[in-house]
Amino acid sequence: METIKKNQTYTVTIDDLTHEGLGVAHIDRFPIFIENALPEEEVEILIVKTGKKFAYGKVTERKNESSHRTPVKDMDLLRSGIAPISHMKYEYQLEFKQEQVKRVMNKIAHMPEVPVLPTFGMEKPYAYRNKAQIPVRKLDDQLATGFYRKNSHELLPIEDYFIQDPEIDKAILVVRDILQRFKIKPYNEEENTGFMRHIVIRRAHYSHEMMVVLVTRTAKFFQAHRIAEAIQNELPEVVSVVQNVNSEKTNVILGKEDILIAGKESIQDQLLGKTYRISPQSFYQVNTQQAEVLYKTAIDFAQLTSDDVVIDAYCGIGTIGLSFADKVKHVYGVEVVPQAIEDAEFNAKSNGATNVTYQTGKAEKVMKQWAQLGIQPSVIFVDPPRKGLAEEFIAASAELNPDRIVYISCNPATLARDLERFGELGYQAEKVQPVDLFPQTYHIEAVVLLTKAV
Ligand code: SAH
Repeated sequence: METIKKNQTYTVTIDDLTHEGLGVAHIDRFPIFIENALPEEEVEILIVKTGKKFAYGKVTERKNESSHRTPVKDMDLLRSGIAPISHMKYEYQLEFKQEQVKRVMNKIAHMPEVPVLPTFGMEKPYAYRNKAQIPVRKLDDQLATGFYRKNSHELLPIEDYFIQDPEIDKAILVVRDILQRFKIKPYNEEENTGFMRHIVIRRAHYSHEMMVVLVTRTAKFFQAHRIAEAIQNELPEVVSVVQNVNSEKTNVILGKEDILIAGKESIQDQLLGKTYRISPQSFYQVNTQQAEVLYKTAIDFAQLTSDDVVIDAYCGIGTIGLSFADKVKHVYGVEVVPQAIEDAEFNAKSNGATNVTYQTGKAEKVMKQWAQLGIQPSVIFVDPPRKGLAEEFIAASAELNPDRIVYISCNPATLARDLERFGELGYQAEKVQPVDLFPQTYHIEAVVLLTKAV
């Protein structure tokens, strides 16, 4: 077998895609991962990195083009990972995602028989993000905003982020220019010095209220109020300017401490006709239009009736449970971030829901407490982060003995792992519906209905 060495060139044909959308070619069965390459394309590649089990190659010449290829708007969108699959036509992106879910249902869940439906996509699969988290760094002696080159901490200056609400793109530049004008020092990551780390912006899809969070390394923020005033003057939609302090040397963007500089502490938006307050630390789906499709799908799967007692686990600010609280008997929500639970309580009140109970804490612990208290849910919704469900959460769910479980997942691999565990405890996956919340990226969201085997 040939040894693949760095800086060698090869001509290969792409035969597969990784879950991150990289093209895969094989040389004597040794896999090479290649950015911006699609199945059936013949490419000349340069090996840029080698490992024991695989190598990375870079396309130096493309001999033919896949019929699924579409021109890339800006190569930096691929390089930065902002839009890593934007070289695929959108219909193909949707097929790719369905196929990825089928694979894990086969290989990890061992449930090839469970139908994986065609991905629900967007009509306009760009300009959808309602939130941006943009690093602020020094570039050519200037305060700059952009995105990191993939697997690095080198900032690529970017102005058009393509997948974000264009009003957010504009706002980033306005805030950047104001920070420059006030001679604010950008953060230096290697040394953990400097001041301004990130600009986080949210713009509500329906209300258009904007929040600007300035993430700083230290608390003392000279001229904070004048800066906030300038931001609100130039961006009239901004109703909230918050400073967040993060002194740690970490990749985590937000620190624990929020200091209100101007306006109100939260913004509000709508989802499926209900209104929601959103605080800086609270999770909120970044694609509002598709979040509505996602929730509708989940609610449809659950076949709710007025007798149902429902648990909304990993509830965030309460958006899933509050969407149907008026149609069921009771909703119990659990969430680990205290600010999100405060938002959920507020949101329940402002939407007139009196049949909801929220609990701050780890879902895996609270589920056990609820089991001990004798709560008898007929339906459980789960919407965990990427790492999926803890073993004890799954055990506690089964112990609560609901008729139906609706699993909303942002990571097919952990979803499939958890479905297998649920299967062992008598909950059978009926169908899987991928919903595209993240067009142009390889991230996959999916909803699964599980029912109690009789
Ligand atoms: N259902 C909500 C939030 C989903 S995101 C929505 O659709 O908007 C997942 C949520 O789980 C986040 O709010 C996160 O803070 C929360 N979370 C993470 N780990 C948790 C845990 N162990 N227990 C409870 N909640 C957790």
